[in-house]
Amino acid sequence: MSKKITIAIDGFSSTGKSTLAKQVAKELSYVYVDTGAMYRAVTFFAMQNGYISKDYFDKETLVNSLPFVELQFKFNPDLGFGEMYLNDINVEKEIRTIEVSNFVSKIAEVSQVRAKLVEQQKSMGIHKGIVMDGRDIGTVVFPDAELKIFMTASPEVRARRRFDELAEKGQSVTFEEVLKNVQERDYIDTHREDSPLVKATDAIELDNSSLTREEQFQKVLELVEEVINQ
Ligand code: C5P
Repeated sequence: MSKKITIAIDGFSSTGKSTLAKQVAKELSYVYVDTGAMYRAVTFFAMQNGYISKDYFDKETLVNSLPFVELQFKFNPDLGFGEMYLNDINVEKEIRTIEVSNFVSKIAEVSQVRAKLVEQQKSMGIHKGIVMDGRDIGTVVFPDAELKIFMTASPEVRARRRFDELAEKGQSVTFEEVLKNVQERDYIDTHREDSPLVKATDAIELDNSSLTREEQFQKVLELVEEVINQ
């Protein structure tokens, strides 16, 4: 497998995009980029500075502060992928909380936030050999990606997965709360004006309610091989 390609993985929340993307990137020795982490880091920045809370969102001040938001992935050799740094501080743990999940889709609706992150994402893919996951990778960031995957699964299956993950990390949250969050994010992500979540016309759909992780991984490797050998 010598020719390097770009692999775009999009789909709804908690469909297992990042697990699959990491696995594929590792197998191919490609770079893995979790764009959700970037939107989460901007959300954490907005929360820290008091720009967003339950009933309040100062979008203008956030937009004016964007030049002071520096995002970087630093490779962690023990984990085998890059961790998210916000202004030189590792925020991997802070960005995975239910509080950040509750606000992130509001932040991701802001066009100026999207423009900044998309520009950075495009530059990360210049040399190909990249697996990027998100919501608009196959449609906006890399419309010319050689391989586009669109992942789906029922909201209940996804909420169960996210709930188990959070519980494992010791976060106290109910299944209902997680299901509500997953459904709200689906709604906002698919209805926003700028770059809504849609399946690219040339993306291959993987419904993983009915596939095991291993089956899914093998399927994607077959697709990669087909693309590289064509
Ligand atoms: O992938 P993850 O669930 O961590 O993404 C968090 C949120 O970030 C999504 O619900 C979505 O609102 C936003 N997002 C986005 N575009 C991307 C990646 C994430 O709008 N490319």
